[in-house]
Amino acid sequence: MEKSYNPYDNAQAQFDGVAELLGLDEGTRDLLRQPLREYHVLIPVHMDDGSTKVFKGFRVQHNDARGPAKGGIRFHPHETADTVRALSMWMTWKCALVDIPLGGGKGGVICDPHHLSEAEQERLCRGWVRQLAKVMGPSLDVPAPDVMTSAKHMLWMLDEFETIHGGRYPGFITGKPIGMGGSLGRTEATGYGVIYILRQALKDLGIGIEDATICFQGFGNVAQYAGRLFTELGGTVLAVSCWDNNAHQAFTFRKKDGIDVDKLAAITSAYGTVDREKAQADGIEVLPGEEWISQEVDILVPSALENQITPANVDKISKTVKVIAEGANGPTTPDADEIIKGRGIFLIPDFLTNSGGVTCSYFEQVQSNTNFFWEKDEVLEKLDSKLTHAYRSLYSLAERKNLYMRDAAYVIAINRVVDAVRMRGWVR
Ligand code: GLU
Repeated sequence: MEKSYNPYDNAQAQFDGVAELLGLDEGTRDLLRQPLREYHVLIPVHMDDGSTKVFKGFRVQHNDARGPAKGGIRFHPHETADTVRALSMWMTWKCALVDIPLGGGKGGVICDPHHLSEAEQERLCRGWVRQLAKVMGPSLDVPAPDVMTSAKHMLWMLDEFETIHGGRYPGFITGKPIGMGGSLGRTEATGYGVIYILRQALKDLGIGIEDATICFQGFGNVAQYAGRLFTELGGTVLAVSCWDNNAHQAFTFRKKDGIDVDKLAAITSAYGTVDREKAQADGIEVLPGEEWISQEVDILVPSALENQITPANVDKISKTVKVIAEGANGPTTPDADEIIKGRGIFLIPDFLTNSGGVTCSYFEQVQSNTNFFWEKDEVLEKLDSKLTHAYRSLYSLAERKNLYMRDAAYVIAINRVVDAVRMRGWVR
């Protein structure tokens, strides 16, 4: 049987390794290796058929020493408290690494939006906020979109929060629709961010982007925008994969001379499932299963869920792969990570690679709070410069100290959070 992985164990193992390296004292380790606060709630929802269904939801605030907790809210049938704990921890490191004044949090609801109507989803969003409105807010904890949630969910949540608190609080949530406090560029930000960072990495490795091929696991928001920008810069999107919820399996889509990302996105559902017949009609090969991992490309971008690269499939990664850029949160298990490290593949860790989303969320908060909105170019320019700067500092530390990129990223992030908890006097 395949070993099962708990993302919280993975997140703690990663933290413990670096805490040891940094020689952190026991009190500081205890404070940072688990969440400061967490909430488990029940959300009763009136269903369209007249019945009531009770959903389970979570909000975890891992650390808010550097600023209000920040992080998305996911809808997923396999959500667990431990997954949300791990994700909240990774948000703390992500915000610290890109150096924005925010802490880390995450939310989740155990549900499958594929089987919920719009109206049921709206009631679920409002119900989640009703249970948590007293412990979240612009200065406490600020949610955002994540797996299977989007701008429309954010606005329902904001509306419920504002109804409860009796005022307008656009800084409560990010990823809002444009015109309703959202930032231009927020939808593109995570995917574009992957490529802003990758572009720097390719320079360091002496790989020309025009000669480079890439394969994405997943074809949701992250892969679609990353794929578009990669193509614009002259690279070739050789393959992408998607999950088909009806077929209960994954499919990989491949085109040797490059996939037209816009065209493929046009035949993809809101949950990232590609229409196989239409893809085939467009000359794209359709391979059943998790073939994305064995594609002969220069760059692999796991941009779906956690625990996707494990010892069971890590050896399938082609010898051609020079870079793995983790678009998803926690896609690589620690034991598979050791193997990647051993093979000398250049890994760009998740909490840098996908930090474009939260960085743009921070810009959105700034715009919402001042009620002054920037042009899209201005947002993307600021995003590029923030991420490029974070990458450059990380790469130079990794080079200087001869550290694996993930470890170097942890060193920078943990040091910043440790400074904050010390300055606040939480630990000595
Ligand atoms: N859900 C995204 C992430 O995992 C964005 C979070 C945010 O914007 O707060 O980073």
